[in-house]
Amino acid sequence: MTTTATLPQLQCESDVGIATVPLASEGAFASWQGDIPERFRTLGGPELVERVREARAALGQRAVVLGHHYQREDIIQFADRRGDSFDLARYAASHPESEYIVFCGVHFMAEAADVLSAPHQQVVLPNLAAGCSMADMAAQPDVLGAWRELAAEFGGTEEIIPVTYMNSAAALKSFCGERGGIVCTSSNAGRVLAWALERGRRIFFFPDQHLGRNTAHAMGIPEREVSLWNWRLPSGSRGGLSTDELRRSRIILWEGHCSVHQRFSLTQVERARAQHAGVRVVVHPECRAEVVRHADAVGSTAYIARYVEEAPAGAVLAVGTEINLVSRLAKENPDKTVFCLDPVVCPCSTMYRVHPAYLAWVMEELAEGRVVNRVQVPEQQKEHARVALQRMLQLA
Ligand code: SF4
Repeated sequence: MTTTATLPQLQCESDVGIATVPLASEGAFASWQGDIPERFRTLGGPELVERVREARAALGQRAVVLGHHYQREDIIQFADRRGDSFDLARYAASHPESEYIVFCGVHFMAEAADVLSAPHQQVVLPNLAAGCSMADMAAQPDVLGAWRELAAEFGGTEEIIPVTYMNSAAALKSFCGERGGIVCTSSNAGRVLAWALERGRRIFFFPDQHLGRNTAHAMGIPEREVSLWNWRLPSGSRGGLSTDELRRSRIILWEGHCSVHQRFSLTQVERARAQHAGVRVVVHPECRAEVVRHADAVGSTAYIARYVEEAPAGAVLAVGTEINLVSRLAKENPDKTVFCLDPVVCPCSTMYRVHPAYLAWVMEELAEGRVVNRVQVPEQQKEHARVALQRMLQLA
């Protein structure tokens, strides 16, 4: 049997357990949130662990700490709950006794928690510079501009249903809620697209082209009915699409992607199969179409975790998702060989910005009754975003 020790894929530099270097020694610190007080910048791992634990104990049930699956180990150790963004937002909403929701994830996740939580709950993102490159590819003005161009092309937007992936700003969830649209996650994208096609002739889907394309393919929608809107082109370019391409489109995809999942390639799938007889390849639907079509299984982070857990002892599993989750699954399933498809994959660089020093800072402030780094969605935006999320919840 192949052993993990022989797998070069497990030697990724991010696979470093819970070793924590002081914030000031992090190479990218200069581009992270800079107003964290000096006293937190030079603390090492053991001191930070102690300080977070003390603040945690002082806060008791008044705070809940949420950890996204892609968080580093030195953060996830403090999480009361780990999961994907939607699961975590719902968890927080179902714990009204917690006045503070400390969301160890990225900005759009904290926004979604704020939309779904009760008015007395306050959401805190430890490092406000923790954004998401995919969500950033769909800026509200660009989407509004594209919507206006589609309206001009089709003589209105009555037959177009906007659908946004969970991984988007609250402003876009609100945009969808206000226009008869909906939100989807990587677990329910198929059901959501079917819902939308029952209500309109076309779907405008953002920000992840790969999730949209993979879902359309799984639903049997022909490729010629799926088009790609290039938002980088100047206004008035109709996303680079011809009249014919637009008119035959049932799904118009925004040209966005996840910088982590787009790295996985068909060559990596073929290499895993050549090097490990009987390997099973399981990937996230944010991966490119050719990767998804050559995998044995595709699904959300929760699906991937379940797939690995339910595999028989001795199974060899190549996983196409963020390295922190893959490394954790490898550790938690020692009777199986679990490795990342990409031998040099890096962690999600924006998730990584939630360093324990930021967590210690915001937790200590909360314990003192001060809220720093609150993420608050404007009321009107919240209302429409909630409508789009509720439509999705009603499908479940
Ligand atoms: S893994 Fe991709 S989609 Fe998720 S937060 Fe990071 S960049 Fe965004």
